[in-house]
Amino acid sequence: MKVLDLQCSAGHTFEGWFGSEQNFVSQVQRALVQCPLCGDAAVQKKLSAPRLNLSGAKAPAVSPPLSPANADAVSEGGPALNPELQNALHQAWVHMAKQVLANTEDVGDRFADEARRIHYGEVAERGIRGKTTPTEARELMEEGIDLVALPIPEHLKKPLQ
Ligand SMILES: [Zn+2]
Repeated sequence: MKVLDLQCSAGHTFEGWFGSEQNFVSQVQRALVQCPLCGDAAVQKKLSAPRLNLSGAKAPAVSPPLSPANADAVSEGGPALNPELQNALHQAWVHMAKQVLANTEDVGDRFADEARRIHYGEVAERGIRGKTTPTEARELMEEGIDLVALPIPEHLKKPLQ
């Protein structure tokens, strides 16, 4: 398995997984490799910038809080979930949110700035979380910055014990 850093003609960068270099070339020739952002099939290997260690540069963006009360309201309209399953999902979500909170630094409204500084190597790589607008998040992704949106329950935002 080969992981390649790719770039479309609009300059979006993304990662592609291929069986081999040859496999990549043949898929590009048949226009099977497309940019996940704009669908462009004029994809080539990214030549600039050294390979980034994305595993260390995860920068979760945290969207506005979704309180458990809101979550319940949302699920009321849809098909009723088995309460056990719902509870298991809630536990898994809380667990994941706690992991993120424990392993990231809260940079609040400076999220977009910090994510860029980390991405461009101006500061040491670390996990950060904070607030960003959908527009900012899109711009960050277009610059090749890895981020995920994750609603964090309000009660978990208090300092960890
Ligand atoms: Zn693109």
